[in-house]
Amino acid sequence: MKLSILATVISALSASAFAADAPTREELLRPAPNPAWNRFVVGKGETLELTPGVYTYSGSARTIFIVTKDGVIATDPATPADAKAMREAIRKVTDKPVKYVVYSHNHWDHVRGGQIFKDEGAKFISHEKCVQHFKDKPDPDIVMPDITFPKNYTVKLGGRKLELIYLGPNHGDCLVFMRPDGDAHKYLFAVDIATPGGAPLTFMAGYDPYNWIRTLKELEAMDFTAIIPGHGVPLADKSALTERRHYLEAVMAAVKKATDEGMPADQIADKVRVPEFAYLRGYDINVRDNVRRMQAFYGIGE
Ligand SMILES: [Zn+2]
Repeated sequence: MKLSILATVISALSASAFAADAPTREELLRPAPNPAWNRFVVGKGETLELTPGVYTYSGSARTIFIVTKDGVIATDPATPADAKAMREAIRKVTDKPVKYVVYSHNHWDHVRGGQIFKDEGAKFISHEKCVQHFKDKPDPDIVMPDITFPKNYTVKLGGRKLELIYLGPNHGDCLVFMRPDGDAHKYLFAVDIATPGGAPLTFMAGYDPYNWIRTLKELEAMDFTAIIPGHGVPLADKSALTERRHYLEAVMAAVKKATDEGMPADQIADKVRVPEFAYLRGYDINVRDNVRRMQAFYGIGE
């Protein structure tokens, strides 16, 4: 019932505001490799209800919000312009105030613009390690968190829950994964740990390859059905995480093999490739820098 409603919503959107061949919910939930993830819908300004009370909104980055009887739990405001548009999108769904804003991590493309929510009294929440980043690299558009926590944390409001899960360093050192409560459908808002159907961007800024792979394995072992990524498509089958891990492992193995076989270091970026992953969106553009990043990993152990 809920699935078909959402499929209808996505179909309706695809028929109007977005590309005619925008993937349906059913297509997005097929396992990797999944061509639907490459029918890339930016979906800017799009709001979708994933399960009762749990919405995803996409500005320049994707975010989620949960509507409860006592107010709204919002997440990454992204930018001042996005936050304003997201506030309007929330208002179309409920007249309740935003009570909490949760940051997924410290990166500027996800955490700027929160003042509009602060002004209505929202409390800001992040992992405690984000605070130092905000102090070291201040930005006038970042609202400092009111509530921080060292491991996991559950945001409770109006009888609903948003579980924040910290798995240590991976993409930076303060990324949290967010699991909304709800029906049998289990979603995980997983920002920047995988971009379904795509290769990682360039030199993979902020990523620690070893802990990235460890985290992906831990997420793969967790009980949920689909991820809501921090950019791009609104949701994807959990296998998007496995696909990303397999790609990283393949690049690492190829770099290590070339190194062990004596390929000169200055040739590795130009010669080492993982052609079995050439189907990934952005592979041609990014693989060279991905290889260079793994070369650094093997060079200095990080
Ligand atoms: Zn990031």
